[in-house]
Amino acid sequence: MFGNEKIKNVLAYLFCAVFVAVLVILVVKNVGMSEFFNSIENKTFDIRQKILVSSNYKKVDKDIVLITVDDASYEYLVERYGEWPISRSVYADLINYVEAQNPKALAFDLMFIKSMKSKTNDDARLVKALKSYDNVFTSMNLDNQSEEVRKAVDLDKKFSVNVENKSSIDFVKEAGFSNCRAILPQILENTPNVGMINVSRSNDGVLRKLPLFMVYKNQYYPHLAMMVAQKAIGDNTKDFLVSSNKTVKFANRNIPVDKDGGVILNWYGAAGFTFTEVPLYKVVKAMYGDKTQKLDFSNKIVYVGTTAVSLFDTKTVPVDKVYPGVEIHTTFINNFINNEFIKRVDVSVDIVVSLILALVVGFAVYKSPTVIISLSQVLIAILGYVIFSYFMMKYCNLWLAIVVPVLAVVVTFVAVYIFKFIVKSRDFEHQYKLATTDGLTELYNHRYFQEQMIAQIANSKRYNLNFSMIMSDIDFFKKFNDVHGHQSGDAVLKQVAAKLKKNVRSSDFVCRYGGEEMTIILPNTDYEEAVHTAEKLCALIAEKPFKLANNKESNVTVSLGVSTYPQDGEDAATIIAAADKRLYNAKENGRNQVGK
Ligand code: GH3
Ligand code: MG
Ligand code: MG
Repeated sequence: MFGNEKIKNVLAYLFCAVFVAVLVILVVKNVGMSEFFNSIENKTFDIRQKILVSSNYKKVDKDIVLITVDDASYEYLVERYGEWPISRSVYADLINYVEAQNPKALAFDLMFIKSMKSKTNDDARLVKALKSYDNVFTSMNLDNQSEEVRKAVDLDKKFSVNVENKSSIDFVKEAGFSNCRAILPQILENTPNVGMINVSRSNDGVLRKLPLFMVYKNQYYPHLAMMVAQKAIGDNTKDFLVSSNKTVKFANRNIPVDKDGGVILNWYGAAGFTFTEVPLYKVVKAMYGDKTQKLDFSNKIVYVGTTAVSLFDTKTVPVDKVYPGVEIHTTFINNFINNEFIKRVDVSVDIVVSLILALVVGFAVYKSPTVIISLSQVLIAILGYVIFSYFMMKYCNLWLAIVVPVLAVVVTFVAVYIFKFIVKSRDFEHQYKLATTDGLTELYNHRYFQEQMIAQIANSKRYNLNFSMIMSDIDFFKKFNDVHGHQSGDAVLKQVAAKLKKNVRSSDFVCRYGGEEMTIILPNTDYEEAVHTAEKLCALIAEKPFKLANNKESNVTVSLGVSTYPQDGEDAATIIAAADKRLYNAKENGRNQVGK
């Protein structure tokens, strides 16, 4: 019986836990809390990345060199050329200077747009330099500018790639654009090496991803960083397959793509402390004859971009508040080379992890004897899981959710506590019933009768009331047992008890005094009323035969005695003795009656 109860409890627990977990997930998903929890989840990602970066675990590729337009270079160049942007012939010279050392690739995270300061000669020199090498890249940007402001020009197919999309990612929705900030038409005519430099930010403004492909006029265009990475490792495919499990396989790598088509970057460190950087002014000095500048670009991936705060190309990223765009690109390239993009595990994994954690923690908490122990179990589970998720990011580049599993653990903890409380109070009820009732007749037991007598006396005394008690005894019951057997005796006891209980007020207490003697306490009842009740009961018992164990029937009678507080006594023993005395009188008088 008790083992069964235990199994029932465990099943009820499992049911509750799963129910609560599903409820939490549904609420999180549907009540608009998804965004809220997402932003916290993103913050947990940032913290993991910050700790990872400070642990110096990921190494940057020494073959990546940045030529930066830093604050010093900006100052130097404006001083030297008297304006910003500087003449494009400087960039033409820079291309020729760097290319003389045979870099793997040279990329400009700068847009050579048509501007008021464009000089035909300088632009022509730049175009000539760009078209002379197949590993020099420059950039442009897709946007949604109104066509009233700027006509959406057609882009040559040579800039696009072929994407076969078998995943659920909607590239048009996530990275589709209606307009583009085109660069000098001469550049577009003379080189295919133009990549997009769009970025994607989370709702909190932090940049965690780069889009891999963007869609414009029904064509897919790759990100500049992706084109440069491809060049750097000698891959030149233009055909990409986004598989149903959201990975793009190319150059022996499975690049995990997030549901919005972006790749999640794995960061290396704070701005300026990560990649090898050469300020542009040093390169300018070197290429115009300063022999003291020893610059090595051979076999390097050279990326040119601005880091000067005054030039505003900075973003907030997980590991730094002010981070230059060019370092975001090189982070991508480094991630690509080392194949260490972050994979955000599927929601289904988060849900399974949450369920397992909730079940384990819930069970431990259910079993634990004290609040302190269960609280420590919860803390250990959360801490253990958080550390586990950190190491999964460190060694497997996996982003396991933290918020939903931790929430599941906390909610389970609370739910199990409520559950435990309910079980406990049910258990208490059960114990109370065992302690106060008689097993055979289910009447109150002798101890309860005595306690109730004391309580009634106290109550009646305080409120100046009276109460009565009836004592009944089955007639010739010894003989009944001898004739019909003890089993039939028990059956009759039960039926007499039930009949008494059924025919008194619900506020009366029917008790088994001992053997076949039963007592009834009638609160707020005077002697006459109690005698009347006793007579009614006496008649009812005698009226119909009772069923015996062998399916036969037999008539039984009872004799009763009544006493009342306060006239028959002011303590329990005296009152009981008075009833007993009248019961004796009933027996003497021939039984089956109420004694006087
Ligand atoms: P009287 O009319 O004078 O009361 O005669 P009696 O035989 O009923 O005498 P008494 O009340 O002294 O005897 C009580 C008998 O009730 C003794 C016992 O055989 C029987 N009895 C007491 N408790 C139980 C019980 O739990 N089950 C059964 N079957 N019989 C019981
Ligand atoms: Mg008796
Ligand atoms: Mg008897």
